[in-house]
Amino acid sequence: MNLPKQLFLDGAYRNSSSGQRTTLTNPATEEIFAEVAAADVADVNAAVESAQRAWESGWRDLAPGRRAEILFNVARRLRDSIEEIARLETLQIGKPISDARDEAALGARVFEYYAGAISTFCGQTIPVARGGLDFTLRQPMGVVAAIVPWNFPFPIACWKTAPALAAGNCVILKPASLSPLTALKLGELAHAAGLPAGVLQVLPGSGSTAGDALVTHPAVRKISFTGSTEVGSRIMALAARDLKRVSLELGGKSPNIVFADSDWKKAAGASPMSVFANTGQDCCARSRMFVERGIYEPFVEEFVAATKKLVVGDPTKPETQLGPMVSAGQRTSVEEFLADARKRGSRFAFGGERPQSKGYYLQPTVLLEVDKSDRCWREEVFGPVVCVVPFDDEAQMIRDVNASPYGLSGSVWTDDLRRAMRVARQVEAGVLSINSHSSVHVEAPFGGFKQSGIGRDLGMAAMEGYTELKNIYVADV
Ligand code: NDP
Repeated sequence: MNLPKQLFLDGAYRNSSSGQRTTLTNPATEEIFAEVAAADVADVNAAVESAQRAWESGWRDLAPGRRAEILFNVARRLRDSIEEIARLETLQIGKPISDARDEAALGARVFEYYAGAISTFCGQTIPVARGGLDFTLRQPMGVVAAIVPWNFPFPIACWKTAPALAAGNCVILKPASLSPLTALKLGELAHAAGLPAGVLQVLPGSGSTAGDALVTHPAVRKISFTGSTEVGSRIMALAARDLKRVSLELGGKSPNIVFADSDWKKAAGASPMSVFANTGQDCCARSRMFVERGIYEPFVEEFVAATKKLVVGDPTKPETQLGPMVSAGQRTSVEEFLADARKRGSRFAFGGERPQSKGYYLQPTVLLEVDKSDRCWREEVFGPVVCVVPFDDEAQMIRDVNASPYGLSGSVWTDDLRRAMRVARQVEAGVLSINSHSSVHVEAPFGGFKQSGIGRDLGMAAMEGYTELKNIYVADV
């Protein structure tokens, strides 16, 4: 397989100006397999200049129909490259190949959606009191930066770049240091599909150097970030200096609420993948389960039985459901949470061990008898760990759900429609599912309340977020 190893800058692969490189390790085998150029401040400056040139010399003013045509071409190239993209993703982060194929296809669909959206994206005419003609324009911002994480590298890169490009911006994409390959592939394929040089550039590099340089560059108008709440908060503080726009999609501690009147056996069967998919490295992971007392014991039994059936192992095999964790460091961080749970007296209904000696694997872990002051209950673990607690009273359960500083997603299982609506309205989260664990829909807004973020990815909300709203008044029309 041909691995991209350089920056994608100004329409071509280039070395970094400092010559610095980042080493990539396959998390399934612990073997180093590549070195990739790491951008520094000079590369960020060059990319911003190239992006500005591209924006002013044509991309900003391109006819919407032509922009749509190019983005449909990008989608087609991505569809033709699903297998290659999927294999790169599996290699760099240990994502099970079946999931990696689905996510590569999702990336293509995101480009199709926003290419189509260009022709329906419009302003308003407003009947102002003094007469005349008043209307609004949605105008692109210019150069925007997308800083993305390692857990869903390709789809998140697509769902930040596609709406930004569709709205007429130029984008500089900074992938996480652990996962530069599929982002670089996106830059290369998009250019081959007709995006002019400088419109989409990809700069692998460390967060503290390349990321920081993008966030503080005066010509970058917006930062769209997905990652930890800690870094998101730092980006917001830095962006405040020159009032850069930000959208932040951050951590989560999402609830999975199961009422006794639901089809709870179905919920028990579906719930393992709501928290353990992607080996728990998912901001939407339903890591706090609230189960109504009357069904608690049989529910836990079914849930643990379903968890034991999950196929953990080699991510290149199509039947694998859970691959390794992304890095030794991420696994150690999760094991520290588990050590704390042991010390605090939680009961391990399943898991907690390394299932094999090679690769950064960790069993899916089900914790019972957890205290609400424990770290595993309060903090985002970002690994395959779930806490399951019983509840008696709906109102108290909602208070416990909302006691978290996070508010990203969640699920409610009940056959009572009125209860479903009541609970859904009261849970403080940006994305909720009823009798389902599905959180991400290309056409619908995705993002969090409280410390889970600001702004929205996906849907038309994301495209609006990459524009400035201008009002124009014409007298005597
Ligand atoms: P980070 O938030 O550190 O990284 C996310 C992205 O931000 C990466 O591209 C990273 O680059 C970049 N970055 C890091 N520091 C800066 C900075 N100062 N300025 C600009 N960009 C920066 O997440 P981690 O990868 O370190 O993971 C740590 C924890 O974050 C996880 O355990 C999890 O709890 C949470 N997380 C949440 C995610 C979510 O989807 N909500 C996704 C990923 C992590 P680089 O890789 O070079 O550091």
